[in-house]
Amino acid sequence: MALLAVLAIVVVVVGFTGRAARWPTDAYLVTGQATTEPPQLRECPADAPLPGARAEVRPPPGGWPGVPQAVSVFNVFGGEVRLEYAGRVLCGHMHDARTRDSRFRAGVGMVIVPQAGSQEPVVAYWSPPLKPGWIPTIRVGAPSEVQHVDTLRLVVRTACLAVALVLAATALMAYPGSRDWTFLGYALLCALSVVWQGMLSGLVGYPEPWLPVVGHEQRWFVGLSCAGLGAMLCGMWLLVAGPGLDALVRRRMVLATFVSWLAATVFALLAPEAWLSSTAVGVELAFRLVYLAILGWALQRLWHHQYGAIPALAAMAPFAAIAVLERAGSRLLLEYRVEAIQLSITWFLAVSAYALNLRLGRLRRQRDEMQQLAETDSLTGLPNRRAGLRRLDELFARARHHGAPLSVAFVDIDHFKSINDEYGHEAGDRVLMAAAEALRGAVRGPVEAARMGGEEFLVLLPGVGAHAAVQRMEALRGRLAAQGSGLRLDGLVLTASIGVASLQASDADAAALLRRADGAMYVAKRSGRDQVQLATC
Ligand code: GH3
Ligand code: MG
Ligand code: MG
Repeated sequence: MALLAVLAIVVVVVGFTGRAARWPTDAYLVTGQATTEPPQLRECPADAPLPGARAEVRPPPGGWPGVPQAVSVFNVFGGEVRLEYAGRVLCGHMHDARTRDSRFRAGVGMVIVPQAGSQEPVVAYWSPPLKPGWIPTIRVGAPSEVQHVDTLRLVVRTACLAVALVLAATALMAYPGSRDWTFLGYALLCALSVVWQGMLSGLVGYPEPWLPVVGHEQRWFVGLSCAGLGAMLCGMWLLVAGPGLDALVRRRMVLATFVSWLAATVFALLAPEAWLSSTAVGVELAFRLVYLAILGWALQRLWHHQYGAIPALAAMAPFAAIAVLERAGSRLLLEYRVEAIQLSITWFLAVSAYALNLRLGRLRRQRDEMQQLAETDSLTGLPNRRAGLRRLDELFARARHHGAPLSVAFVDIDHFKSINDEYGHEAGDRVLMAAAEALRGAVRGPVEAARMGGEEFLVLLPGVGAHAAVQRMEALRGRLAAQGSGLRLDGLVLTASIGVASLQASDADAAALLRRADGAMYVAKRSGRDQVQLATC
């Protein structure tokens, strides 16, 4: 375990700190086949400055084949792209057109028809990327593969968005029942990820490639990335902390992360254009540092056998994998970066949803336990006065609705004060427990006998008429006596005065029925105790 933890830290630290594949040394990928579709770009303005980054795409050995070639530049997240070949100069912006190579990916391109054997290169210029790792992909070839890879990409992109939407809806539905703000926070995280992923994948603004914020894409991209990464870090803190950590500490950590990343988001949205690139790099660096801190903490918790950190580690793993792949200069990652990020986010959201589900179950159990505690008499284990009266209300309403009989009995132990005085308070408690045992035997369900306070009990007899109720209570007297003698307290005779009342048309509510039973109990007391009395009116 220890070895694994150390290995994981080493891999992640190396992955995060190593030098990523950088522009301009290996600043483009050449992939794909040729196309025959017409270009959609415009002539470059005569005085347009050349965008800062440049790549030459050389023909294969032996020169270009004599068939049309599509040249498409993807993953330039803003600014102009300029393509030159054989004296033709075309300019494109992501908002000019979707490339013919993709119906949803942001990219620009043109079609060239080189002479067979021609050695002239295609030259592409683009605005330098916001982050070093985010280098463009150049596709050259014939004919265009509109459907092949794109369909898979589209499926991954839309599926990730759909999952995030469903998870957000589920969390929102869980909130009213739980009243736990974590569910709202999670729904917000999902919503943010929907917007960010939608923007990153070009789906939000369809048929425009991005949001309709022409000229401000980079700013919005950095701002939304910042908000999304900050929200995700909050989620990671919560996941690692789990239920074990002091709620105040947990809240402070999340709040500090949330506030600082909110400030960074506002800064990204308002900062001067020239600072955008360094802001993007700074945001990424900060994310990696906080990520490493959280990862270290999760591993430390695991080290101390706090296995609640496992879902957190599982949720965070793909981000480390992306960093390691980037470090390794993976071409696959360059080509499928958006999909890799989306799948990581979706995985993170899904594992968080699992942890949230566990939390919901725990909250429900806690609530049930609290309710149970609040409604149970601690000495006898019987339902307490509140629970007894609530059950009486339910049975009263049901009996009224169905016109069914209902009887209640008020049971008061005789001379209990003298029992306490004679045998001691502790023996008095044992007598109460024995009485509760006798009562349990006299009723049908676990909630149909309750301790109303002191040495007074309530018995509920749904479906039982007056005559049968009196008989049942006579039997209870016998049980009480038997339980009393079972206590082996010298000279103790356990008796009770019991008042029975049966539902009548004149009973306005459950309280009226209870009052009559109480009155009958006092009649029993006055008539010499140790007897059952039926309330007459
Ligand atoms: P009566 O026959 O008229 O009902 O007389 P009583 O002594 O049973 O009734 P009274 O209301 O005078 O006394 C009830 C006593 O019950 C007083 C109180 O100290 C005692 N008591 C109340 N709750 C508890 C308890 O939880 N444990 C014990 N041991 N005694 C209790
Ligand atoms: Mg009493
Ligand atoms: Mg009494």
